[in-house]
Order: sequence, then structure tokens, then C-alpha cells
Amino acid sequence: MRVLADLDLCQGHAVCQDEAPDAFRVPKRGKVEILEAAAGSSSAEVRRAVRYCPTQALSMVADD
Ligand code: SF4
Repeated sequence: MRVLADLDLCQGHAVCQDEAPDAFRVPKRGKVEILEAAAGSSSAEVRRAVRYCPTQALSMVADD
């Protein structure tokens, strides 16, 4: 699985960073950055981050 972020939807709430700090970084007044650790990850933390993003900017897609 891969995590994708729709930066048009991201509003920098940083819920994702709170849920999975190894996988997401959100700079102050910035938008989400998907870190190396999120690549290929379907850990419980990453899945929670995707689920709880308030703007549903994150999604998980199957690797090709
Ligand atoms: S929780 Fe969603 S809106 Fe907030 S920074 Fe993460 S991706 Fe963006």
C-alpha cells in the first residue's frame, strides 16, 4: 500500500502527524509531507492517520 495526499484538500491540521509521527510531517502553516516511513506502510498508526484526517486528504492505494 502507498499513502497519497491531496494537497488541495490538506489544511495542515496535523492530525496525521499526531497519529503517525514517523510517517507524516506537517510544518507550521504548511501542508503534509509524507515521509519515507509511510512508503509501503499499512501500520495501524498510518491507517488511523488516513481515517482521522479531518479533510480526508489522505488515501491509501494498492501498489501497482
Ligand atoms: S490531518 Fe489531513 S489535513 Fe491535517 S495535515 Fe494531515 S493530511 Fe493535512
